[in-house]
Formats: sequence, structure tokens, C-alpha cells
Amino acid sequence: MSRIFEITERVALYAPKANLDLINRAYVFAAHAHAGQFRSSGEPYITHPLAVAGILASLGMDEASVITALLHDTVEDTGVSLAEVESNFGADVARLVDGVTKIGQIHFNSSEHKQAENFRKMILATAKDLRVLIVKLADRLHNMRTLGFVPEHKRRRIGEETLQIYAPLAHRLGMHWVKQEMEDLVFSHLEPDAYMSLLVEMQGRLEMLNQTRERLEMLIQEALLRKGLPATVHGRMKHMYSIHEKMQRKHVNFDDIFDLIAFRVIVDDAPTCYQALGIVHSLYRPVPGRFKDYIALPKPNGYQSLHTAVIGPENFRIEIQIRTHLMHSFAEDGVASHWAYKEGKTAGKESFKWLRQLAELIQETDNPGEFLENVRLDLFVQEVYVFSRDGDIFALPRGARPLDFAYAVHTDVGHHCVGVRINGDVADFSTRLHNGDQIEIMTSPDQSPSRQWVQYAKTPRARQAIRQWFRRQERDGSIRMGEKILHEVIGKKDAGKVIIEKLGCADQQELKSRIGRGEIAIHKLLEVVDHNHFLPLKLKGMQRAMMRAADCCHPVPGDPVLGRFVAGAGMILHHRKCNALSEEDCKDSLEVEWQAKPGELFSTGIEVHSRNKRGMLANVTRNIAEANSGIEDLRLTQRGGEMTELLFLVEVEDRKHLAQVMRAIKSVDGVSSVARRNRVGLSGKPAAGEKAAGRPFSATLRDLFSRKSSEHEGEKK
Ligand code: MN
Repeated sequence: MSRIFEITERVALYAPKANLDLINRAYVFAAHAHAGQFRSSGEPYITHPLAVAGILASLGMDEASVITALLHDTVEDTGVSLAEVESNFGADVARLVDGVTKIGQIHFNSSEHKQAENFRKMILATAKDLRVLIVKLADRLHNMRTLGFVPEHKRRRIGEETLQIYAPLAHRLGMHWVKQEMEDLVFSHLEPDAYMSLLVEMQGRLEMLNQTRERLEMLIQEALLRKGLPATVHGRMKHMYSIHEKMQRKHVNFDDIFDLIAFRVIVDDAPTCYQALGIVHSLYRPVPGRFKDYIALPKPNGYQSLHTAVIGPENFRIEIQIRTHLMHSFAEDGVASHWAYKEGKTAGKESFKWLRQLAELIQETDNPGEFLENVRLDLFVQEVYVFSRDGDIFALPRGARPLDFAYAVHTDVGHHCVGVRINGDVADFSTRLHNGDQIEIMTSPDQSPSRQWVQYAKTPRARQAIRQWFRRQERDGSIRMGEKILHEVIGKKDAGKVIIEKLGCADQQELKSRIGRGEIAIHKLLEVVDHNHFLPLKLKGMQRAMMRAADCCHPVPGDPVLGRFVAGAGMILHHRKCNALSEEDCKDSLEVEWQAKPGELFSTGIEVHSRNKRGMLANVTRNIAEANSGIEDLRLTQRGGEMTELLFLVEVEDRKHLAQVMRAIKSVDGVSSVARRNRVGLSGKPAAGEKAAGRPFSATLRDLFSRKSSEHEGEKK
């Protein structure tokens, strides 16, 4: 079937209402697109899509599949666009062609067997519509039939890929003959010597085997007929690759393989299958343990049959499969038999119903290997398959993002992740990953997780790893903190047994971490030790995981500060004069001597009064920058008349640095006063978490600098 009219004639037979004109047009369209292209065999390229369409017609596939087969290489290999396909042949065909093209871009290039399953799943996920997969399998089958013309090195890669990926997929879809032919073709190309010697062996016995086959066909058929059971019986040689595999697996010679011929008994209905089985078993002695009832318990891919093995005449061991016509057509063509064109029905819904049934059926299967292998067919839409830079495939849940991938590679890759490239382009942590994306994670040893990461991670693995990191930081941090406090109170890092017991702790670790978390108040600690002198706790910089500077008073290193423990937030440093602290709070707080750590910056508020003057804001911000400080936020208020109040949130290392910044602002012409906002504004209710004095800095920098100074004038009204 390699001419278009043969294909349309065939389609017309099983689908009288099919649009043959459209199929013809698809042929002309493809022939035009591929004009001037040739196959490795030297034939015009169009012979290939034509042959693929022929395979689909022989499977009885619907019109859209046959048209897709004719067009399947146009978008990938010619100047044709998907839009052109759609405008000529409709959205359905365009979608199918796109699917086949996308699968064509997935190449299996790993020698690892465990990767093969991921590739198969990826292809399933990419295909979405099973017809896409069936067209792709037909495409691969024809390419295998013509593999001899392809250069040696490519032949091996294509053969391996077919054996590892496409033949198992054909098997999973129950397309038995496709699987067998693919395997035999791979066998003949990749192991030509073994193939030839097996072929010779078989041909030497062909006459004997054929005679045996014919005689047994007749014997079985007659026996059934005598009991009033009309049946079709035919024997078939096992396919070469499966014989070869069996010889390899069992380390036996050709002559030691008995079940070279398998007989199929095809009857009208399921009850007759069991009757026929009884007759066969009464005729020949069954081989123990070889009976399998796949009618009552179908295989995961939907296959149904009764299997048995018997000792036939002359001790010739034979395999017999008994099934109905319907089961037989499914056994041969698998999923494709469900796609066979049905008048007045939409094949799509039928097929998905079948898929659902398949999934249900799988639930009941007790072979866990097959169960897992097949249940994923149902699950594949839940997963997304992406490549690492080295070409390894990772299966992640649908909706996964870059951090999920990073943590899937390795926890350390996750923790140190600073950025990501997707298909070569820098992307955001919030980007969703798509099938076939190539992901490259950029790392830095200085990077560590941030709290926000949890919202960018979808997999439990990534979320857990991030949370665990923080828990560990907090635990280590609170132990270190507890150790420091202990040292200040008792003069050494470890407390004696008496102190540990008096404070109700099990051991040194627990004591330290409870002190560090503030669960054991300082005055409680002071009560149980002899020393009454408690020096201020010396801290350098900030241990971010378990302490922070209060938002109400914005202290900086060098300020007199008190440390106040807050459950769940660790120690919060307040300015000693912070109004947010009650007297009670102060008693429970820890006196801290806080020193700067070079390079570490803290934000604090500055209030500036100045005359309204053109360029004033620019001059102030420039001077702040020149004093090596940055502006985090900024707010501007008109104070009536000629005065403007500016509020800055600046970043400084410590109190000394802050003083430099303030001097730099003061030196700007027109500035009348500069003061720390914290002292001025602390006038009432502010609590930890609020911005200075409950008056949040509202305007963002971008807002302010995009305005012109004339608009500032306007605000006065
Ligand atoms: Mn092709």
C-alpha cells in the first residue's frame, strides 16, 4: 500500500463517510512541501509519509490520523508552518502534527536503562493524544524497515532507541505486531550475525515446523468441531527476537526451544473460550503451571486471552492461546483497535473511556512491576519531564518550578541555588517548568535559602529541605546564643550539673538552646547561679536565623540595645529608649553590647528638614551615596511654607557610619536639620513589625525619582 489511491480505497472500506478528498489534498500538500527531498534510500521523500499513512490505514485508523501521517514531517523538515496546516486541515490535525513533531525532538541518548522508563513516560506525556503516539509508532516502524540505507553509526542509535523506547511503548499500547516487527528489525540490524545464524536454523527446520503446524491446526480444529464448537485455529512461529532472547536468557540452543509455534484458537464468545480450553486439555496433557486466565484478569494493557501449554503429538510442546474475535483484534492492534473508525461516534471519548477503564483495571492487578509500569499511563498527565544540563531526565510533579528541580538534583544544589537558566535563558524562580525544558541551575557557595523560597517550591522534597535548613539554623543559632549568654553569666561555656537540673533541663544542649530561645528567662538563670553580676552580652553583627533588629526603633550596632525574646521570632533587638518597650519588657530583656561586623548593613530612619529647592532631593541622595550608604525607602511631606520633611530609611554599618551619613546630609545647602527618626517619632503605639512610629514610609524610590521637581511644587496646594 504505497500509493495514495490504495490508501483512500482502504479507508473508504472501513470508513465510508471519511473525507477522501481531504486525504488526497493532504497528500498533494505533503508532496509539494517535500518536493526535491530524498530519503537515504534515494527515493523521493514523499514515499515515507505515504508508507506511514498506509500503516495507519491498515490499522483502520480515523481520517485525522491518516492525514496526520501524510503531513507528519512537513513542519519539522520543510518550510510549512503549523498555522498553514491548521488553515488547510483544521485544528485537530494541526494539534496532532504538532504532537508528532514534538515527540520527534525528544532523543534518547542515555545508555542507562533506568532512564528509558523516564523517556517513555516523557513521550507519553508529550503525546497527550494517543493518536499522536500511534502515528509516531508507525513513523518509527517505517524508518526501521528502511534502516538499512542509513549510515552505520546512526543505525545503532536509532536501533537502540527503538528497542528501549518505541517497542516497549507499542507493547504497552497492546500493538503486538508492531512491537514484534520493530524488535526483529532491530535484531537484524544490530546483531546481523546472530540474526543470520538463527534465520538459517529456522529455515532448516521450516518444513518440519510447517508440517507440524498444519497438522496440529487441523487436529485441534477437528476436535473442537466434533464438540460443536466452530473455531478458527492458526499456528504462528514465534518472532525471531523473542526466540533469540529466550536462547540468551536460558542459555539454550535453538533445538532446546520447544514452543516455537504458538496456536491461536479464535471463537465467538468468552464462554466458548473456556469450553474450547476444556477440549484442548482433554486432547493433550497440559504442562503444569502454564495455564493463565487473562480473560477473567486482563493484562494491564487490556490484553485478554486464555493461555495454556500442552504436550502435543510426538511430545512436541505447544503453546495455545484461546480468545474471541474482539479480543484477538485488540491483541494484535491494541489501542489502535479502539481508534478504528466508528460511524457516528467520536473516537476520542471512546478512547479516553478505555484509558480510564485501563487505569481501573490496573488497580486490581497484583503484579506490582506491571502495575507500576502501567499505572503511570494514567498518571502521566500529573508529571512534567525535564532535562538536566547533562541530558538526564527528571520527572517532577506538574507545576514544578526551578527550585523543585534544584532540590531534586541534590539538597546542596538547592541550598546554594542563585539562579536558573531554562533552555539557555535566565528565568525566574516562579517560572513553571514544561515538558522537555532543559534546566541549568547556577549555584554559589555563599548562597543560602531564603524564607520566600517555600512559596516557589511545589514538591514536598524541596519544601521540606528548605524548612529543615531553617530549623537547623535556628537550632544551631539558639545553642550558640545560649552558650554566649551562659558564658557572660557564669564565666564559662558549660553549665554545671546543678544548674542544668535546677532549670529542669535534661542536658547541656537543652539548657543552651532553651536559654538561647528565651524559654528560660535571664532572671531565672540569675536566680540559680551565685554570680549576681551580669555583664552585657557581646554580639557582633547579626545571626539572621534567630535574631533581628526591631522595626519600631531601627537600632544599629553601637546603639545601646536590649534583647527581647519573642516566641517563634528569636531575639529582637530594641533601642534601649524604644517606646514600644514597657518597663516590664525591659526587666525581662537582656542587656546587649552590639558591635558592627564589617560589610553587614542595618537600616535605620533619618528625618531631614530642608527648604524647598530645585535639586534638593538629588543632592541629599547623592551625599548619602557618597557616604557609602544606600536608601531603602523614602518619604516626603510638605510642612507648610517653604519647608519639606524628608524621611529616609538608610543602610549603615553602625552608629559611627550613621553619624557620617548624617553629617553628609547636613552639608547640603538648604538642609536645616538632620536627626534620627527613631528618637523623634517614637510617640506611642508602635510595636515590633511596624515601621517607624507607625507612619510607614509609603512612597517607593521609583515613584519619587520619576517625578519632576515642578510637581513637588504643585503638591503644596
Ligand atoms: Mn517521519
